[in-house]
Amino acid sequence: MIEMSLGINEFIEMLRVDFKRYCEQIGIPESQKLMLATGRDEFRDIMLQRYGEYNLNLTLKPKRIYYQHLGECYPELRIILVNAHVKRILDKVSGIMRDITYADHLDTLIHELVHYRFNLRNCITKKFNKLIIRILEGEKFEMMELEIPAQRVRTK
Ligand SMILES: [Zn+2]
Repeated sequence: MIEMSLGINEFIEMLRVDFKRYCEQIGIPESQKLMLATGRDEFRDIMLQRYGEYNLNLTLKPKRIYYQHLGECYPELRIILVNAHVKRILDKVSGIMRDITYADHLDTLIHELVHYRFNLRNCITKKFNKLIIRILEGEKFEMMELEIPAQRVRTK
């Protein structure tokens, strides 16, 4: 794939398509569907719409949400963040900073979906990596009611 000409907008478009596709493949039921935010502002907008300013401040831990991460999973809020606005990352193999590619974003997307679908908090395990490989190999997972932690959000 030629990636040189891809910008944030293309990344976001592709992420939305792949998000839908992988949610189906890994068996996230309609009743437990989650949202994808492709940047911090979008994440905040979704949360604002859902909870309003008052509850937003109670819900989000400021440090966590403004820390520069490629991706985050908030199972109890039913949302994942894949930050398409990150432009450069540290290459795991060479240890040198390089431009981000769509493959990096896709890795992040699948990673966060595995956290959600399989209710796994710890991602530095063989089990976690094996699931990622099975998904990348195209295995279809049965739809299953997910164990989602209770929402901590308060209502007014
Ligand atoms: Zn993780």
